[in-house]
Order: sequence, then C-alpha cells, then structure tokens
Amino acid sequence: MHNAAIAALGLHYVYIPFSVQPAELGVAIRSIRALGIVGVNLTIPHKERALAYLDEVAPEALEIGAVNTVHFSEGRLVGYNTDGEGFLAPLRERSIPVKGLQAFVLGAGGASRSVVYALVRAGAGVTIANRRPERAAALAEAVNGATGTKSAAWLPLDAYDEVAKRLARADMLVNTTPVGMHPHEDEAPPVPVDLIHKGMIVYDLIYNPMETRLLAAAKRQGAVAINGVDMLVGQGAASLRIWTGLEAPIDAMRQAVLEGLRSAKSEV
Ligand code: NAP
Repeated sequence: MHNAAIAALGLHYVYIPFSVQPAELGVAIRSIRALGIVGVNLTIPHKERALAYLDEVAPEALEIGAVNTVHFSEGRLVGYNTDGEGFLAPLRERSIPVKGLQAFVLGAGGASRSVVYALVRAGAGVTIANRRPERAAALAEAVNGATGTKSAAWLPLDAYDEVAKRLARADMLVNTTPVGMHPHEDEAPPVPVDLIHKGMIVYDLIYNPMETRLLAAAKRQGAVAINGVDMLVGQGAASLRIWTGLEAPIDAMRQAVLEGLRSAKSEV
C-alpha cells in the first residue's frame, strides 16, 4: 500500500518491514533518529510501549494510549495514532454523518479504543459490548472521563435481552473483535445476526475475508455493509500525510491492498 503510494507520488522513499523483538523496541526507536528514517508504523505488540521512547505524542495517541505512526521531524520523534481517522474515513466517503449516530461496538480491545474515541469525539453515542464486561466498563468510563460526556455506555456481550434492545435502537453495529477472521471464517458472529435491521450500517474491521459472515448477513437483511479494507487504507493514508505532508493517492493504495489480499487468498 505504501510503496504503491510512493510510486504514484514519485517519491524517493521505500517502505520496508522490520521485525523487532519487544526487548529491542527502545533501540529500534532510537535507530530511527540515528538512521534518519522519515517515519515508521508500529504494530502489535509495540503500540503501547512505544510512547515511552518518543519526544512527543499527539493528543489522540495519548488518549488512546497507543501509537501506530512515528514521524522523525526537525530532530524529534513524534508519535501519532491514525486508526481513529482511518475508521472514520469510509463513513466520510459514504457521506454518513457521525454526529448524533447511535453505535453499538462489539469488543473492547486495542482497535475498539480507537473506534470508540473517534466516534465519541465526532459526536456519536456508543454502547460497548464485550465478552469480559469489565473491559467494556473501563473503556466507557475512560472515554466519558476524557471527553467530559456520558456518550459511552457498556454491556456484557451475553446480556441478550439488553443487547437486543440496544441494537434495535442502534444506527450502526461495529465489530472490533477478530471473530470471523481468517482462518476462522465459519465462526458464528459475536451477536445473533437476526438483530441486524434494514438500513443499519454494519461495519466489520476485519479485512480478511472481505466479506465476513456478519457482513453477508447484513447485506441479506438490507443493511449497509462496510469491511475493514477502507479503514486499513484510511489509517495508512493518514500516516503517509504525516510523513510527507502530501495528499495520499487513496485509489492506488486501495488497489495495492486488494491485490495483496487476492494473492494471499490464491496462495492458501
Ligand atoms: P484485541 O486487542 O486482542 O481485542 C480483541 C477484542 O475481541 C477483545 O475485546 C476480546 O474480548 C474480543 N474477542 C476476542 N475473541 C472473542 C470471541 N471469541 N468472542 C467474543 N469476543 C471476542 O485485538 P485488536 O487489536 O483490537 O483487533 C481486533 C480486530 O480488529 C482484528 O480482527 C484486527 O484484524 C482488526 N483490526 C482492523 C483494523 C483495520 O484497519 N481494518 C485495524 C485494527 C484492528 P475480551 O476482552 O473479552 O478478550
């Protein structure tokens, strides 16, 4: 995705993977300065611990407690989190207004944190349902505290009656759990799919497969289905903008992701 963008923009950059052991994270981040690397993305398990090694952390990354993008600029290592922006990008592209929207979010892990903060900051109300309810409660409390709102509520995922009631009133269902992700495509979705209603937006963060069982059911039931590809592209595009100051060539990036997913599938 990034090399496709670099080619489209005609930049003399290259984007390459580094496999970094947790014990070497500090050395790896200090090397960005030593080697003059423009920027990096960070992924599991480094996103949280990286904060300690940076000169500055952007407010949204501080709030989420995780960094996925580092920019080395004017001698300083600055951390950002672009997952929330990436999550909102497909909604913006489809002209779906987030302000006033009632969202039901499945999961309370790392991706959910970015999603819930982005939704609440954009003016939505959110109910978080999680298998371990204490994690949903902690996230709702943190978001309400940080935003000075009461926009986030929570539920145990197995409280069926309350889940059904809330979903009937929700405009959007977001799956931030890995349930249904390759190689477990056949796993039943985290909530019964008959709770999806016509006109609802069903947004699954999973991008492999591109159509999970949850999204297939959403389409059958007349809901708007959004998969995780556009979020993946959106967070990457936001990182590229931070590193280069240039508008990202979204179509070239999406094309590269789709090609990558297709070739991964044909290798299976
Ligand atoms: P994570 O931190 O491990 O969180 C996983 C969450 O899913 C937890 O809330 C966990 O519940 C819940 N969960 C796991 N297995 C479950 C099950 N069998 N039934 C019900 N709930 C279950 O993972 P993450 O980093 O947030 O990633 C989650 C998913 O989002 C992955 O599929 C990842 O690929 C996707 N993602 C996509 C993008 C994108 O750009 N499209 C970006 C980030 C992540 P407990 O708390 O009870 O364990």
